[in-house]
Amino acid sequence: FALRLKVAAPEVIKKLMGLGVFAAINDTIDFDTAVLIADEFHAKVEKEVVVTIEERIIDDSEDDEANLVARAPVVVVMGHVDHGKTSILDVIRHSNVTEGEAGGITQHIGAYRVKVGDRDVTFLDTPGHAAFTTMRARGAQVTDIAVLVVAADDGIMPQTVEAINHAKAAGVSILVAINKMDKDGANPDRVKEQLTEYELVPEEWGGDTPCLPVSAHTKQGINDLLEMIILTADMMELKANPDRAAKGTVIEARLDKGMGPIATVLVQNGTLKAGDTIVAGATVGRVRSMMDDKGRRVTEAGPSVPVEITGLGDVPVGGDTFDAVSDERLARELVEQRLNDQKEEVFRAQTKVTLDNLFEQMREGEMKELKIIVKADVQGSVEAVRQSLEKLSNDEVRVHIIHGAVGAVSESDVMLANASNAIIVGFNVRPDPVAEESAKRDGVDMRLYRIIYDCIEEIESAMKGMLAPKY
Ligand code: GDP
Repeated sequence: FALRLKVAAPEVIKKLMGLGVFAAINDTIDFDTAVLIADEFHAKVEKEVVVTIEERIIDDSEDDEANLVARAPVVVVMGHVDHGKTSILDVIRHSNVTEGEAGGITQHIGAYRVKVGDRDVTFLDTPGHAAFTTMRARGAQVTDIAVLVVAADDGIMPQTVEAINHAKAAGVSILVAINKMDKDGANPDRVKEQLTEYELVPEEWGGDTPCLPVSAHTKQGINDLLEMIILTADMMELKANPDRAAKGTVIEARLDKGMGPIATVLVQNGTLKAGDTIVAGATVGRVRSMMDDKGRRVTEAGPSVPVEITGLGDVPVGGDTFDAVSDERLARELVEQRLNDQKEEVFRAQTKVTLDNLFEQMREGEMKELKIIVKADVQGSVEAVRQSLEKLSNDEVRVHIIHGAVGAVSESDVMLANASNAIIVGFNVRPDPVAEESAKRDGVDMRLYRIIYDCIEEIESAMKGMLAPKY
């Protein structure tokens, strides 16, 4: 600062002392102090605005309310294995093929759109919460609505509970499709009753969870389900601005021998056009061709529209976000920077919540809610731990059990923890090897206990900043 003022450093230090600031020669002074000192030397200081490459080439300006128009909802189908997710996705896809397309090929590009009256709904073609949460862990928030499929003859099963908690953690709206209504053992009332145990109270019972009886086999109720999706979307007032540079998420990507990298992207805002330069994760390219889910070549894709594109330099990863950018050269610089950031992934992993840094994060006001996933050998322990831990909530931080279940700590638990910034506690259970590996990689704190009391004591200490350090 003295150099810039072209005066000797002690001069500046003296003036600082006059202001009651006792600084040594290499100390940093804040902007307001600098203004005052500069004034004494008849100089003027201006704030240097650091503009990142991202800011220079990616249009992230707030969209003016006036430019926003309604966009189609993006829906994911979740539920226990064999409850009919794939069957429902297939029925919806085929029942909505219009006359002209009937003979045409439908392409599986990872997502598809159907018409419901004059409205559109976009479905992600990969059922299940694993894909959904992996994307979320990468920072992508693509879905608006989750359709939870529960077989009427089987009721709520472990993966149903997982799906419910993954959807809740993501904050998406949940609709329940009670499937296999054509089967003899179908008992929708039992399903509804079970749902209430997970705080999903059916609308007809005074709650706000729509539950629709359907059958993928007879197609009963499928149209009602679609109508309900539209109704839910209307209440959510989903909007986007089609008149801006496109941004969205990579749904899936692969390398084709002839065509090079091929990616299905979901446009979430703006309109993607053939010829646009885009940055997707850590790769750059220019959109060479675009194909929609019906296999047709298109030149434009607006909000909530999935398209398969070619022209990227490399294969991005599902869950990568993409942006159409204004400057190809800077785009390459940005990618360079992102690749460097990736090398520092270890560093980023450390900013996750752990029992060791919990207190610090609470003190900095960054942690208002401690999210915990509980796995135990018996249901009784899950409930006991849930209750005792939630009671630890105080004015500063709320303890929230986002998922609790019987069984080993699985990869899905780690993914949920990673995507939601939660810690995992296990009682008399072990993580499976894949889960252990991913937890280590993603920096997810996993604590295993034999005695419930130990866990409660440790978390209570961590919340008070009195956790004994581990060596
Ligand atoms: P996913 O694992 O959830 O994707 O389930 P699938 O869609 O693969 O379906 C699992 C099994 O249930 C298959 O044999 C389907 O034919 C059957 N299934 C799916 N929906 C229905 C239905 O509405 N009624 C009957 N009876 N069977 C169904």
